[in-house]
Amino acid sequence: MIKPSLLDFTKKELLDLIKPSFRVNQIFGWLYHQYAESFDDMKNIPKTLKEELAEKYIVNPLTIVKKEKSSDGTIKYLLQMQDSKTMEAVWLKMKDIQLDENGEVIQEAKYTICVSTQVGCKVGCSFCLTAKGGFTRDLTAGEIVAQVVTLKRDNHHKHNRKINIVYMGMGEPLDNLENLTKAIEIFKEDDGLCISGKRQTVSTSGLSTKIDKLGEMDLGVHIAISLHAVDDELRTELIPMNKAHNISSIIEAVKRFPIDTRKRVMFEYLVIKNKNDDLASAKKLVRLLSGIKAKVNLIYFNPYPGTDYDRPNKDDMIAFQEYLIKHGLLCTIRDSKGIDISAACGQLKEKDGIHKRS
Ligand code: SAH
Ligand code: SF4
Repeated sequence: MIKPSLLDFTKKELLDLIKPSFRVNQIFGWLYHQYAESFDDMKNIPKTLKEELAEKYIVNPLTIVKKEKSSDGTIKYLLQMQDSKTMEAVWLKMKDIQLDENGEVIQEAKYTICVSTQVGCKVGCSFCLTAKGGFTRDLTAGEIVAQVVTLKRDNHHKHNRKINIVYMGMGEPLDNLENLTKAIEIFKEDDGLCISGKRQTVSTSGLSTKIDKLGEMDLGVHIAISLHAVDDELRTELIPMNKAHNISSIIEAVKRFPIDTRKRVMFEYLVIKNKNDDLASAKKLVRLLSGIKAKVNLIYFNPYPGTDYDRPNKDDMIAFQEYLIKHGLLCTIRDSKGIDISAACGQLKEKDGIHKRS
């Protein structure tokens, strides 16, 4: 029987469900500080209460079914849910630990977790492997939250160590807005993982009306826009949904989105050989983003068997970046973390042929 998880609830909701309230404080500690996997782990909770709860709820809804570690420290996880569907989450090492000459720690290593929001995706981008498997279902808030709990636990990452979250795994986060925003709030809980909005980045293929809705909720999160093209014709070829949410509607929504004045909106630009890697596109991109506090992240297209697209040349990539920088845009090239373990979204799952079965 499929049951809701305790990770589906905010602390306020748990206080309504479980009495007395000090038990909720203890349970919250077990969930988010000790990363409990089952009721058995919760040592100071009375057996009767645990039995009562276990009739209606489970603790962590995820099981790790596969793990691939890359030489750069990236670990890609294939996770299974109660209905045996699977999805991916990725543990990314962003900065190595820094030691002084005596071997003392100056700065701890920094990590980011990339989470999924759906099994499959409805948007159907022509370059994306997740799209090939179609759409299966939305993830619940608890299944989104459990990805972070599970990966922190598996990497012995203490609850109070800082972590960033990027919603860049499988699925379109804004197409599952309700569960996404609930997960964001649960991550922010002071007595839980305490991950502030500014440490969470929602990546979207550009559902402009939903960008507005997310903005109105004022959760303090960042957004990253998967732009990938500078004219509507090519963008519609890459992202069919562009017909309904075209480039100018996205730019207008971004201008309305509340951002911290010290921060920038990230525009992701997937570079595909002979499609959008030319300097004429770079020139249009500069024009398109004028007046926005933007940062561009160039991504190498990561090929997979059966795709019609090619990875761009390094020289073209660098020329594109230099053009943007020369014209006043901040621009980075995403280093291909975990390239040896097929780290672009959907690629681990597809490798096993698991897409077809789920
Ligand atoms: N649906 C959201 C978030 C998940 S996709 C979105 O599209 O923004 C996360 C990122 O993976 C997107 O920027 C997408 O462009 C990128 N991606 C998808 N397929 C890729 C591939 N084959 N190579 C490189 N990046 C890819
Ligand atoms: Fe969905 Fe993002 Fe893949 Fe497009 S790139 S199909 S929006 S997951």
